[in-house]
Amino acid sequence: MLSRTDLRGRVPSPAQLRAVLPRADVDVDAVLHQVRPIVDDVRDRGVPAVLDHTERFDTVRPATVRVPEEALKEALDGLDARVRAALDECVARARAVHADQRRTDTTTQVVPGGTVTERWVPVRRVGLYAPGGLAVYPSSVVMNVVPAQTAGVESLVVCSPPQAEFGGRPHPTILAAAALLGVTEVWAVGGAQAVALLAYGGEDTDGTELEPVDLVTGPGNVYLTAAKRLLRGLVGIDAEAGPTEIAILADATADPVHVAADLISQAEHDTLAASVLVTDSTDLADAVDAELARQVERTRHTERITTALRGKQSGCVLVSGMDDGLSVVDAYAAEHLEVQTANASEVAARVRAAGAIFVGPHSPVSLGDYCAGSNHVLPTGGCARHSSGLSVQTFLRGIHVVDYSREALRAVAPHVVALADAEDLPAHGQAVTARFGSAE
Ligand code: NAD
Repeated sequence: MLSRTDLRGRVPSPAQLRAVLPRADVDVDAVLHQVRPIVDDVRDRGVPAVLDHTERFDTVRPATVRVPEEALKEALDGLDARVRAALDECVARARAVHADQRRTDTTTQVVPGGTVTERWVPVRRVGLYAPGGLAVYPSSVVMNVVPAQTAGVESLVVCSPPQAEFGGRPHPTILAAAALLGVTEVWAVGGAQAVALLAYGGEDTDGTELEPVDLVTGPGNVYLTAAKRLLRGLVGIDAEAGPTEIAILADATADPVHVAADLISQAEHDTLAASVLVTDSTDLADAVDAELARQVERTRHTERITTALRGKQSGCVLVSGMDDGLSVVDAYAAEHLEVQTANASEVAARVRAAGAIFVGPHSPVSLGDYCAGSNHVLPTGGCARHSSGLSVQTFLRGIHVVDYSREALRAVAPHVVALADAEDLPAHGQAVTARFGSAE
């Protein structure tokens, strides 16, 4: 079922590897021309524009964009007890992990009388996106809200697309998850119009002000990502999180039943989802293929999964050994990487690029999607080479606070003047020397 790329006996350079490895064609630039008019329209006309685009794409026109607070409480009251217990567990574990990510301010005594403090300050107001097109993701509400709250963000709003079958409100599980986390502000808006409304703000149909945010985070489809690209600068954005990806680095010791199940579980998200197996064992590759054929038929979303597994973004890469396998997974920089090999912890410790790493036979990606405690909003499309997933750090800014005494400034003044002169910026030097009389 998986197409094969045979790299046995040769280890291409990282750049060459990137060109031959399977990857989705998610061309964000290609939809910019569709998304720019939506963003401009929301900037110019505000909520009426949001509602027009919502009607077009989500086939529903909510009475207000902001979801009434009573609706959040009702959704939580009506939540299935089993889902409630699972969300409670998901929240508790995520809170435990993210609490340990808090930063403490550090003060460096550079010289006697001269200090630099790095002060960590939360972003004041953030917009958190929970997708709601193909599937609904209450877990993404948790993964966005928990690090933001842990960072100390003062004001946060959750956005998710309105659903026609729920009267133009986001799915009840999204509302319930928000209520569970103590979020009171939820807007029924999705895609590009959501990012634009978050960035520009607006006035709701009942006169309520939707205050613009400073930062937008959360995963979404190509239209949402295009809007983030267009509005970056006006608002901060997290790393682009597109269609999900799993890479599994496995050797002959891996269980093909587990490997196939994990590849399928990510393919279930989206026809564009990527499932990639990297292995030095053709026996394992053959056994996984047989398992895929057997297991895919028995899933609920057979068609979506088959399309994803047969797509050019999915495949099996054959390598000569684990050293080459590590080169491949580093070049691929998967959103999720599973290591299912002998000595999995040691192999995993050598990985240099991945959004998150799942070690050994009992740490599947599905665990991380919901209940490991780790964050599931992770960089895709190779962005794990330079970016991290969502964390408390995403919602913090480090501000340097410089505090020098007169004596400390006087001592360093000649160096400041010398560097200012070297850069032909003499007024910089004078700004220092002006503080000391010519006699000094
Ligand atoms: P979504 O909420 O991102 O998108 C739905 C919105 O897309 C709609 O509200 C609509 O406004 C807009 N839209 C639809 N067609 C459009 C068009 N032709 N032009 C302009 N706008 C249009 O939901 P989705 O589509 O299900 O995508 C969610 C994505 O997020 C999936 O690819 C999934 O794999 C990914 N995801 C990633 C993570 C992660 O952590 N990386 C987690 C969860 C989901």
